Amino acid sequence: MATAVKAKGRSAGRKLSMSGAAAPAEPIPARAYAARSATSPLGDFSFVRRAPGPKDVQIEVLYCGVCHSDLHTARNEWKMTQYPCVPGHEIVGKVVSVGKKVKKFKPGQMVGVGCMVESCRTCPNCRAGDEQYCDNEITFTYNSIDHKAPAGSAPGTQTYGGYSTQMVVDEDFVLSIPKGLDPAAAAPLLCAGITTYSPLRHWGVKKGMKVGIVGLGGLGHMGVKLARAMGAKVVLFTTSAGKVADGKRLGAHEVVISKNADEMARHANSFDFILNTVAASHNLDAYIALLKRDGNMCLVGAPEHPHPSPTVFNLIFKRRSIAGSLIGGIRETQEMLNFCGKHKIVSDIEMIPMQKINEAYERMLKSDVKYRFVIDLASLK
Ligand code: NAP
Ligand code: ZN
Ligand code: ZN
Repeated sequence: MATAVKAKGRSAGRKLSMSGAAAPAEPIPARAYAARSATSPLGDFSFVRRAPGPKDVQIEVLYCGVCHSDLHTARNEWKMTQYPCVPGHEIVGKVVSVGKKVKKFKPGQMVGVGCMVESCRTCPNCRAGDEQYCDNEITFTYNSIDHKAPAGSAPGTQTYGGYSTQMVVDEDFVLSIPKGLDPAAAAPLLCAGITTYSPLRHWGVKKGMKVGIVGLGGLGHMGVKLARAMGAKVVLFTTSAGKVADGKRLGAHEVVISKNADEMARHANSFDFILNTVAASHNLDAYIALLKRDGNMCLVGAPEHPHPSPTVFNLIFKRRSIAGSLIGGIRETQEMLNFCGKHKIVSDIEMIPMQKINEAYERMLKSDVKYRFVIDLASLK
């Protein structure tokens, strides 16, 4: 490691030997919370991060947002969880040390890590900066096979996420947090922010367009803020009557209670674009009917159970389409962070200690989040 600052707690940068030469980097002990099975609550877990290599950034995690994907994964709702599972992919922390080939980051800098920590880097999608759509193998921040696991790890050891005190990540998958943004409130930008920014940009959202955001949770509230900052007329659809005032405060021009058929009908055939963030299976036709000719509804919510099939006639008439979108590439994530820095956009958060994570999951299931839980990792140190 070229440079190091003293990390808090048990973390360590590379030490100088008696001769003054840098000693080899050592694995980094980390404290975490993990799920041990789909039905057990998350609890204390300790492990080691790999010894940082020349391109690695060692990060002391300060804050980690709680995404609904963490809950889907911890409870094996997508049927692909490896246990123990340490969730967390909305990570903000301070650089402790950097490898000697690291160019972009310095110790002490505030940085972020999102949903990915590696990809093949050679396929057309990686080369285009869309690593999230890698044709070969993408390494997600948690619950992926960790090809860089510490020496001696069992084959197939999985990656561990940001519900932990330390991260070691290749600099190409580390983001810079703009100065002026509150680091805790910026953490949710690393998933909720980019997952909403990327489709809004892809479908060209701008002034003069009418955009719907479905669901006011972690993703939805970022979608409202970002679509508004892009200049669109924003309509929020919510199932929660108690969120109407918040929806307007967050930037929606209008809030529609989606269970009210009359309110929905008033918007028929009028939307250019709808971003659907709902975490549960529901009737998509109710929204497809609100799209105008050539309008698109993009699904980013990833429910455990499939949506009932939409009516094909709703698509055929008016040439409407449905699409999906997965987070965003690294370059686009930095663009989103810079956009948020410029527009002073962060998440509305409720800070929790790590020990409250199981309660937070229960509240998330009741749509009782205003509007993102963020874990203060000081609670684990
Ligand atoms: P969240 O904070 O729990 O918000 C989801 C919102 O959906 C709720 O606040 C609620 O909003 C609405 N909702 C929940 N249950 C509903 C139901 N039965 N019917 C209608 N509306 C319902 O979750 P999140 O973290 O924003 O994540 C949302 C989804 O996106 C999850 O499935 C997550 O896994 C997925 N996700 C996908 C990506 C991607 O790359 N595509 C990235 C991150 C997350 P109202 O109270 O306003 O109705
Ligand atoms: Zn997420
Ligand atoms: Zn690739």
